Amino acid sequence: MVKCSFCERSAVYLSRASNIAYCKKHFLRYFDRKVRKVIRKYGMFRGKEHIIVAVSGGKDSLSLLHYLSRLSEKVSTWKISALLINEGISGYREVTIKDFLKVVNKLGVDYSIASFKEEFGATLDDMVKIGNERGLPYLPCSYCGVFRRYLLNKVAREMGGTVLATAHNLDDMIQTFMMNLLRNNWERIARLGPVSGVIRHPKFVRRVKPFYKIREKETTLYAILNNLYPSFVECPYAQLNVRWIIRRQLNQLEEKNPGIKYSMLNALLTILPLLREKYAEEEFLTCQICGEPSTHTICRACLFRKELGLL
Ligand code: SF4
Repeated sequence: MVKCSFCERSAVYLSRASNIAYCKKHFLRYFDRKVRKVIRKYGMFRGKEHIIVAVSGGKDSLSLLHYLSRLSEKVSTWKISALLINEGISGYREVTIKDFLKVVNKLGVDYSIASFKEEFGATLDDMVKIGNERGLPYLPCSYCGVFRRYLLNKVAREMGGTVLATAHNLDDMIQTFMMNLLRNNWERIARLGPVSGVIRHPKFVRRVKPFYKIREKETTLYAILNNLYPSFVECPYAQLNVRWIIRRQLNQLEEKNPGIKYSMLNALLTILPLLREKYAEEEFLTCQICGEPSTHTICRACLFRKELGLL
């Protein structure tokens, strides 16, 4: 039995990168300090905020909602609300909505659920079917990512949110970094900071990632230790995405080289200021069809809707 490095209790977590073992109490303290440090360092929240937490119902986002909800008890000028996007993924989303409702009710947090069906007239499952029938070259995650980001921003703004907090963790960040590196997409990499700083538009809700330096296994443990009981279901489309392969390979790399994920994140943080300098002046436009922020005259969501016959 491994003992905690700080007391006599049994360890619940061993960081192989630092070779430090933590019992429940010391793990939660370590977790809290690490997240607070990121929040402070990147100036994520101001004195008065209405923080909209983007929640998928999975372990990471339920942990973030729980964490920020607890933290906000100490800051009377913060209001926390949760926002879930129901893409309409049969066999998956119903389960995570149940987990979401259990946690928001337990925490007493206001929430909103927005759906692809209501906003765009079709579920993600419908879109995938239509896309296949029309011979469109996109994967389910391509539609999902574009429409979800679009709705998160629009609904967070409509809810009166001043900032949108997402549960992207260290593993998510380096996977996205790798994916964009392989595609030679530096403009996208420039947007991978802990706070969205490249995009400036009056309708764009600032985005922050408080779990930026927290590993996936740490958010999982946080969820378990706080009795959030997520169902750990995987989206049925996840395995079609290249992220699935990159995630597995990064995990294998980390297994053989503890700490390599931190090194990759530090590499990303090192080049970010240079990339931001290069892309910061880019103008963010307004979509001529829907009026939402866009990098082109017509936003990606409207282009997809056109291609799918939903506009
Ligand atoms: Fe959407 Fe892809 Fe994530 Fe499934 S795996 S929820 S389709 S982005």
